[in-house]
Amino acid sequence: MGNRAPASALACTVRACGQPLTRGDRAWTCPGGHTFDIARSGYVNLLQPQDRRSASAGDSKASVEARARLLDRGVGRALVDDIVRRAAALDVADRLPVVVDLGSGSGDVLGELAGVRSIEGIGIDLSTAAAEHAAHTFPTLTWVVANADRRLPLLDHSVSILVSVHGRRNPSECARALKTNGWLLVAIPAPDDLVELRERVQGARVERDRGDALLAEHAPFFTLRERGVVRERSRLDRDALKDLLRGTYRGERRRDAERVDALGDLDVTLASEVFLFTALPSPLAPSAS
Ligand SMILES: [Zn+2]
Repeated sequence: MGNRAPASALACTVRACGQPLTRGDRAWTCPGGHTFDIARSGYVNLLQPQDRRSASAGDSKASVEARARLLDRGVGRALVDDIVRRAAALDVADRLPVVVDLGSGSGDVLGELAGVRSIEGIGIDLSTAAAEHAAHTFPTLTWVVANADRRLPLLDHSVSILVSVHGRRNPSECARALKTNGWLLVAIPAPDDLVELRERVQGARVERDRGDALLAEHAPFFTLRERGVVRERSRLDRDALKDLLRGTYRGERRRDAERVDALGDLDVTLASEVFLFTALPSPLAPSAS
């Protein structure tokens, strides 16, 4: 192995630039002279001013820490294990495949995958709190603050595996970033995810199926290769239930938290649907080699 700087898939986010970014000691730079400082904790913020307006939509520190605490207790373990196992088994041509996690959160999926497979791992999250947490925990991987549901800060056809666990993603951007024969691995909440908690807090057992909509929006760019369900059931105490509220889509609404205060232990289902896609051949993509 040479001592060359690792090739990166990251692209400059300055408007109309898009050139490759190279990592230095203190910053990432593009050939056009645009510079993005590396934060003290090790992540890089690639958000542009037009993106920052929505930055408050990123997960708060409380939410990131709540999810990390849950995972420490084994809550959500089945999904992380399933995604890591699937991604580790995927066939790719590159010796050091670029793997990008969209909505990387605490960084556990990418960090654990890097423990079982040699990858160049890049985690992208809108939340600086998430990027900071992930960079502290897994310092050898690349952690980026950017908006994963808009234009991805990635070079065309540079990524072997894209992972999206309960995050937002733009299917056409995923297809642009993926190499020919690249993989997209997506997990979304299944209809019965947290159903017991939602029933107690919202008063109704609403089960919303998002799978068909997901397939429809990806169909123009991807072929479905596998579909599965990951489900775990845990008996959770009040602290864990509050962390679930903080760490999920419900956020930390005061009235919800008060209702959880009134609960004792509760059996809660965590359920996700998992989809594995391959990119359809793109007329713009270089042919597979
Ligand atoms: Zn640039």
